[in-house]
Amino acid sequence: MHCPYCNAPDSKVIDSRLAAEGRQIRRRRECIQCSERFTTFESYDLVMPRVIKTNGRSEPFDEEKLRRSLLLPLQKRPFAMDQVDTILSDIGQQLRALGEREVSSRLIGEKVMQALYALDHVAYVRFASVYRDFQDVEAFRREIDQMGQS
Ligand SMILES: [Zn+2]
Repeated sequence: MHCPYCNAPDSKVIDSRLAAEGRQIRRRRECIQCSERFTTFESYDLVMPRVIKTNGRSEPFDEEKLRRSLLLPLQKRPFAMDQVDTILSDIGQQLRALGEREVSSRLIGEKVMQALYALDHVAYVRFASVYRDFQDVEAFRREIDQMGQS
């Protein structure tokens, strides 16, 4: 990258360290020509896949929307907001790691269910009953039993 001060094409790296929990490299550089210092960041160029909805249409992945669907079943439940942030970043990372251009909303729903199961069982049951569209608790219970058998 050209020096932002004098536009010289060359700089030397004087310090290099990991940032953002190892997902980024921060490099301190010094311009060979004017000796000004500046910082560059290097990170993965991984694109979030688009989400295919059950009606077959696709839409861009929307983290805020996912946050809302996580918070809804967690209403009045004990949890910390950074737990939700962690779930969101984990799911985002898993989706990017798939390397697919599109993923189904169903897959994302399954990941949310897994995350909620680990976080809060009540929220999990709430989410699953809406997500799976169960009419009553009995139907949900049958589903859980079947999951145990398979
Ligand atoms: Zn310079």
